[in-house]
Amino acid sequence: MALFDLGYAAHEYKTSRTSYRGTSLQQFYEAFPTDDACLDHMFRVRFLKHGCPKCGGFGDWYRLEGLRSFHHQQCHSNRSPTADTLLNGTQIPLQLWFYAMLHFSNSAHGLSRTFVQRHLGIAQHPAFRMGRQIRYQMAALDDKTMLGGQDTPVFVRLETIRPIIRRAKGRHGSARILIANDGSAVKTVVIARSTPKHLRDALTIKAYPDSQLVTDCPSAFKLMSDASSWRQVQYQSPVLGLHSDLQHQNYGFLKYFQLMFRTQYKSISHHRLWLYLKEAEFRYSRRARSHETFWDLVSQFPVLTPERKQALADRNVFGCL
Ligand SMILES: [Zn+2]
Repeated sequence: MALFDLGYAAHEYKTSRTSYRGTSLQQFYEAFPTDDACLDHMFRVRFLKHGCPKCGGFGDWYRLEGLRSFHHQQCHSNRSPTADTLLNGTQIPLQLWFYAMLHFSNSAHGLSRTFVQRHLGIAQHPAFRMGRQIRYQMAALDDKTMLGGQDTPVFVRLETIRPIIRRAKGRHGSARILIANDGSAVKTVVIARSTPKHLRDALTIKAYPDSQLVTDCPSAFKLMSDASSWRQVQYQSPVLGLHSDLQHQNYGFLKYFQLMFRTQYKSISHHRLWLYLKEAEFRYSRRARSHETFWDLVSQFPVLTPERKQALADRNVFGCL
Protein backbone atom coordinates (compact mmCIF):
# COMPACT_ATOMS: atom_id res chain seq x y z
CA MET A 1 0.00 0.00 0.00
CA ALA A 2 1.28 3.42 -0.92
CA LEU A 3 2.13 5.45 2.14
CA PHE A 4 2.17 8.99 0.83
CA ASP A 5 0.02 8.95 -2.30
CA LEU A 6 -2.13 12.04 -1.90
CA GLY A 7 -3.69 11.62 -5.30
CA TYR A 8 -2.41 14.80 -6.92
CA ALA A 9 0.65 15.79 -8.92
CA ALA A 10 3.95 16.88 -7.43
CA HIS A 11 4.07 20.59 -6.78
CA GLU A 12 6.46 22.97 -5.14
CA TYR A 13 5.35 26.23 -3.55
CA LYS A 14 7.51 28.87 -5.21
CA THR A 15 8.01 32.20 -3.55
CA SER A 16 10.52 35.00 -4.00
CA ARG A 17 11.51 34.46 -0.33
CA THR A 18 13.89 31.59 -0.93
CA SER A 19 14.06 30.59 2.74
CA TYR A 20 10.30 29.87 2.62
CA ARG A 21 10.68 27.15 0.03
CA GLY A 22 10.94 23.47 0.77
CA THR A 23 10.22 20.03 -0.61
CA SER A 24 6.58 19.01 -0.69
CA LEU A 25 5.19 15.63 0.27
CA GLN A 26 4.08 15.17 -3.34
CA GLN A 27 7.59 15.80 -4.63
CA PHE A 28 8.88 13.37 -2.04
CA TYR A 29 6.36 10.74 -3.08
CA GLU A 30 7.25 11.18 -6.76
CA ALA A 31 10.93 10.42 -6.03
CA PHE A 32 10.47 7.81 -3.30
CA PRO A 33 7.12 6.05 -3.76
CA THR A 34 8.25 2.79 -2.08
CA ASP A 35 10.88 1.32 0.24
CA ASP A 36 12.54 -0.21 -2.82
CA ALA A 37 12.85 3.21 -4.46
CA CYS A 38 14.71 4.44 -1.36
CA LEU A 39 17.00 1.39 -1.40
CA ASP A 40 17.63 1.79 -5.16
CA HIS A 41 18.52 5.43 -4.59
CA MET A 42 21.03 4.49 -1.88
CA PHE A 43 22.44 1.75 -4.12
CA ARG A 44 22.95 4.25 -6.98
CA VAL A 45 24.53 6.86 -4.72
CA ARG A 46 26.84 4.49 -2.87
CA PHE A 47 27.78 1.66 -5.24
CA LEU A 48 26.94 2.68 -8.82
CA LYS A 49 28.47 6.14 -8.51
CA HIS A 50 31.53 5.27 -6.42
CA GLY A 51 32.07 1.63 -7.32
CA CYS A 52 31.98 -1.54 -5.26
CA PRO A 53 33.35 -0.99 -1.70
CA LYS A 54 35.25 -4.29 -1.94
CA CYS A 55 36.73 -4.44 -5.45
CA GLY A 56 36.06 -0.89 -6.75
CA GLY A 57 34.41 -2.29 -9.88
CA PHE A 58 31.33 -0.87 -11.62
CA GLY A 59 28.41 -2.77 -13.11
CA ASP A 60 27.34 -6.43 -12.83
CA TRP A 61 25.14 -6.02 -9.75
CA TYR A 62 21.87 -7.71 -9.04
CA ARG A 63 19.41 -7.42 -6.18
CA LEU A 64 19.09 -10.32 -3.76
CA GLU A 65 15.48 -11.39 -3.53
CA GLY A 66 13.74 -10.32 -0.31
CA LEU A 67 16.87 -8.70 1.16
CA ARG A 68 18.20 -5.17 1.36
CA SER A 69 21.39 -6.38 -0.37
CA PHE A 70 22.91 -6.55 -3.82
CA HIS A 71 25.31 -9.14 -5.20
CA HIS A 72 28.39 -7.97 -7.07
CA GLN A 73 29.36 -10.53 -9.68
CA GLN A 74 32.88 -9.19 -10.24
CA CYS A 75 34.01 -9.99 -6.69
CA HIS A 76 31.16 -12.30 -5.62
CA SER A 77 30.30 -10.30 -2.53
CA ASN A 78 26.95 -9.26 -1.10
CA ARG A 79 26.65 -5.61 -0.15
CA SER A 80 23.86 -3.70 1.52
CA PRO A 81 23.55 0.01 0.64
CA THR A 82 22.37 0.72 4.19
CA ALA A 83 25.37 -0.95 5.91
CA ASP A 84 27.50 1.45 7.98
CA THR A 85 25.29 4.43 7.09
CA LEU A 86 22.77 6.19 9.31
CA LEU A 87 20.36 3.37 8.41
CA ASN A 88 22.67 0.57 9.50
CA GLY A 89 20.67 -2.42 10.80
CA THR A 90 17.39 -0.52 11.03
CA GLN A 91 14.08 -2.38 11.40
CA ILE A 92 12.10 0.72 10.43
CA PRO A 93 10.98 0.99 6.76
CA LEU A 94 13.43 3.06 4.70
CA GLN A 95 10.65 5.27 3.37
CA LEU A 96 9.81 6.33 6.94
CA TRP A 97 13.45 7.27 7.47
CA PHE A 98 13.43 9.32 4.26
CA TYR A 99 10.16 10.90 5.35
CA ALA A 100 11.72 11.82 8.71
CA MET A 101 14.62 13.41 6.80
CA LEU A 102 12.10 15.38 4.74
CA HIS A 103 10.58 16.68 7.96
CA PHE A 104 13.95 17.60 9.44
CA SER A 105 14.78 19.48 6.22
CA ASN A 106 11.47 21.35 5.95
CA SER A 107 11.09 22.19 9.64
CA ALA A 108 12.02 25.69 10.74
CA HIS A 109 13.47 24.74 14.09
CA GLY A 110 13.94 20.99 14.26
CA LEU A 111 11.74 18.19 15.58
CA SER A 112 11.42 16.97 19.13
CA ARG A 113 11.59 13.27 19.87
CA THR A 114 7.94 13.32 20.97
CA PHE A 115 6.84 14.73 17.62
CA VAL A 116 8.79 12.08 15.66
CA GLN A 117 7.35 9.39 17.93
CA ARG A 118 3.74 10.52 17.42
CA HIS A 119 4.04 11.40 13.77
CA LEU A 120 5.72 8.21 12.60
CA GLY A 121 3.99 5.94 15.08
CA ILE A 122 7.21 4.51 16.48
CA ALA A 123 8.41 3.95 20.03
CA GLN A 124 10.34 6.47 22.09
CA HIS A 125 13.81 4.99 21.73
CA PRO A 126 13.71 4.49 17.94
CA ALA A 127 12.38 8.06 17.59
CA PHE A 128 15.26 9.36 19.67
CA ARG A 129 17.78 7.30 17.70
CA MET A 130 16.32 8.43 14.40
CA GLY A 131 16.80 12.10 15.26
CA ARG A 132 20.32 11.47 16.44
CA GLN A 133 21.29 9.50 13.32
CA ILE A 134 19.88 12.22 11.04
CA ARG A 135 21.98 14.80 12.93
CA TYR A 136 25.09 12.64 12.43
CA GLN A 137 24.26 12.46 8.73
CA MET A 138 24.04 16.27 8.59
CA ALA A 139 27.34 16.58 10.49
CA ALA A 140 29.12 14.14 8.16
CA LEU A 141 27.80 15.75 4.96
CA ASP A 142 29.08 19.22 5.81
CA ASP A 143 32.23 18.13 7.63
CA LYS A 144 34.66 18.57 4.72
CA THR A 145 33.68 22.09 3.67
CA MET A 146 35.76 24.91 5.08
CA LEU A 147 35.22 28.62 5.48
CA GLY A 148 37.09 31.53 3.92
CA GLY A 149 40.11 31.33 1.64
CA GLN A 150 42.30 34.00 0.09
CA ASP A 151 40.57 37.42 0.20
CA THR A 152 37.54 35.92 1.97
CA PRO A 153 37.30 37.11 5.58
CA VAL A 154 35.90 34.83 8.25
CA PHE A 155 33.94 36.43 11.07
CA VAL A 156 34.35 34.73 14.45
CA ARG A 157 32.61 35.12 17.80
CA LEU A 158 32.45 33.24 21.09
CA GLU A 159 28.97 32.91 22.57
CA THR A 160 27.50 31.42 25.73
CA ILE A 161 24.50 29.09 25.46
CA ARG A 162 22.44 28.32 28.54
CA PRO A 163 21.02 26.31 30.13
CA ILE A 164 22.59 23.01 29.12
CA ILE A 165 22.19 19.89 31.26
CA ARG A 166 25.66 18.72 32.06
CA ARG A 167 26.46 15.08 31.75
CA ALA A 168 27.81 14.15 35.19
CA LYS A 169 26.05 16.39 37.66
CA GLY A 170 22.65 16.66 36.01
CA ARG A 171 22.62 20.34 36.89
CA HIS A 172 21.88 23.19 34.55
CA GLY A 173 24.96 24.92 33.31
CA SER A 174 26.11 26.86 30.29
CA ALA A 175 28.36 26.09 27.34
CA ARG A 176 30.62 28.18 25.17
CA ILE A 177 30.43 27.87 21.44
CA LEU A 178 32.43 29.43 18.65
CA ILE A 179 30.43 30.66 15.66
CA ALA A 180 32.22 31.51 12.41
CA ASN A 181 30.93 32.42 8.96
CA ASP A 182 32.23 33.68 5.63
CA GLY A 183 28.96 34.93 4.18
CA SER A 184 28.03 31.66 2.51
CA ALA A 185 28.09 29.11 5.33
CA VAL A 186 28.18 29.01 9.12
CA LYS A 187 30.42 26.71 11.18
CA THR A 188 30.31 26.13 14.91
CA VAL A 189 32.23 24.19 17.52
CA VAL A 190 31.79 23.69 21.25
CA ILE A 191 34.67 25.19 23.21
CA ALA A 192 34.70 23.28 26.50
CA ARG A 193 37.76 25.18 27.70
CA SER A 194 38.51 28.64 26.34
CA THR A 195 42.25 28.53 25.75
CA PRO A 196 44.23 29.97 22.81
CA LYS A 197 45.20 26.44 21.77
CA HIS A 198 41.64 25.15 21.57
CA LEU A 199 40.50 28.16 19.59
CA ARG A 200 43.41 27.78 17.20
CA ASP A 201 42.76 24.03 16.75
CA ALA A 202 39.08 24.69 16.06
CA LEU A 203 39.77 27.38 13.46
CA THR A 204 42.43 25.25 11.76
CA ILE A 205 39.75 22.64 11.08
CA LYS A 206 36.96 25.02 10.13
CA ALA A 207 38.68 27.79 8.09
CA TYR A 208 41.33 27.82 5.34
CA PRO A 209 44.74 28.95 6.62
CA ASP A 210 44.93 31.95 4.26
CA SER A 211 41.59 33.45 5.32
CA GLN A 212 41.64 36.62 7.36
CA LEU A 213 39.93 36.35 10.75
CA VAL A 214 37.70 39.20 11.91
CA THR A 215 35.94 39.50 15.25
CA ASP A 216 34.03 42.06 17.27
CA CYS A 217 34.26 39.85 20.35
CA PRO A 218 36.93 41.05 22.82
CA SER A 219 37.39 37.63 24.45
CA ALA A 220 37.79 35.83 21.10
CA PHE A 221 40.22 38.54 19.95
CA LYS A 222 42.31 38.19 23.10
CA LEU A 223 42.42 34.39 22.85
CA MET A 224 43.25 34.37 19.15
CA SER A 225 45.94 37.04 19.53
CA ASP A 226 47.51 35.09 22.40
CA ALA A 227 48.12 32.01 20.29
CA SER A 228 51.77 32.05 19.19
CA SER A 229 52.64 31.85 15.45
CA TRP A 230 49.03 32.38 14.57
CA ARG A 231 47.50 34.16 11.61
CA GLN A 232 46.61 37.78 11.79
CA VAL A 233 43.38 38.64 13.51
CA GLN A 234 41.54 41.88 12.94
CA TYR A 235 39.45 43.40 15.72
CA GLN A 236 36.49 45.30 14.47
CA SER A 237 34.36 47.49 16.69
CA PRO A 238 30.64 46.62 16.38
CA VAL A 239 29.79 50.28 15.62
CA LEU A 240 32.13 50.58 12.61
CA GLY A 241 29.90 48.61 10.26
CA LEU A 242 32.70 46.96 8.26
CA HIS A 243 31.77 43.37 7.41
CA SER A 244 28.30 44.09 8.79
CA ASP A 245 26.79 41.36 6.60
CA LEU A 246 29.08 38.79 8.23
CA GLN A 247 28.24 40.19 11.65
CA HIS A 248 24.51 39.86 10.90
CA GLN A 249 24.93 36.29 9.73
CA ASN A 250 26.67 35.32 12.97
CA TYR A 251 23.98 36.94 15.14
CA GLY A 252 21.30 35.52 12.86
CA PHE A 253 22.60 32.02 13.42
CA LEU A 254 22.79 32.53 17.17
CA LYS A 255 19.18 33.71 17.28
CA TYR A 256 18.14 30.82 15.06
CA PHE A 257 19.82 28.26 17.27
CA GLN A 258 18.48 29.76 20.49
CA LEU A 259 14.95 29.67 19.12
CA MET A 260 15.36 26.04 18.07
CA PHE A 261 16.80 25.30 21.47
CA ARG A 262 13.98 26.97 23.40
CA THR A 263 11.06 25.73 21.32
CA GLN A 264 12.05 22.17 20.35
CA TYR A 265 14.87 20.83 22.42
CA LYS A 266 14.53 22.70 25.73
CA SER A 267 17.60 21.15 27.30
CA ILE A 268 20.46 19.33 25.68
CA SER A 269 23.22 17.44 27.43
CA HIS A 270 26.56 19.16 27.13
CA HIS A 271 28.24 16.34 25.25
CA ARG A 272 25.45 16.26 22.63
CA LEU A 273 25.26 20.01 22.08
CA TRP A 274 27.59 19.87 19.07
CA LEU A 275 25.20 17.54 17.20
CA TYR A 276 22.29 19.95 17.58
CA LEU A 277 24.55 22.75 16.36
CA LYS A 278 25.28 20.68 13.22
CA GLU A 279 21.55 20.34 12.58
CA ALA A 280 21.09 24.10 12.90
CA GLU A 281 24.12 24.75 10.66
CA PHE A 282 22.88 22.37 7.99
CA ARG A 283 19.58 24.20 7.57
CA TYR A 284 20.82 27.73 8.26
CA SER A 285 23.65 27.52 5.69
CA ARG A 286 21.09 26.51 3.07
CA ARG A 287 18.42 29.06 3.90
CA ALA A 288 18.94 30.91 0.60
CA ARG A 289 18.19 27.66 -1.25
CA SER A 290 16.00 25.87 1.27
CA HIS A 291 14.20 23.89 -1.47
CA GLU A 292 17.47 21.95 -1.91
CA THR A 293 18.00 21.06 1.77
CA PHE A 294 16.22 17.71 1.58
CA TRP A 295 17.91 16.67 -1.68
CA ASP A 296 21.28 17.57 -0.16
CA LEU A 297 20.46 15.45 2.87
CA VAL A 298 19.83 12.36 0.73
CA SER A 299 22.52 13.14 -1.88
CA GLN A 300 25.16 11.00 -0.17
CA PHE A 301 25.23 8.35 2.53
CA PRO A 302 28.54 8.73 4.32
CA VAL A 303 29.93 6.00 6.53
CA LEU A 304 28.73 6.45 10.12
CA THR A 305 30.49 3.72 12.08
CA PRO A 306 31.09 4.34 15.83
CA GLU A 307 34.71 5.33 14.99
CA ARG A 308 33.56 7.86 12.38
CA LYS A 309 31.01 9.30 14.81
CA GLN A 310 33.70 9.71 17.45
CA ALA A 311 35.99 11.38 14.89
CA LEU A 312 33.18 13.81 14.05
CA ALA A 313 32.70 14.63 17.74
CA ASP A 314 36.45 15.22 18.10
CA ARG A 315 36.34 17.72 15.23
CA ASN A 316 33.50 19.67 16.84
CA VAL A 317 34.29 19.73 20.55
CA PHE A 318 37.53 21.31 21.83
CA GLY A 319 38.79 20.85 25.36
CA CYS A 320 37.54 17.95 27.50
CA LEU A 321 33.94 18.15 28.65
ZN1 LIG B 1 32.89 -5.91 -5.98
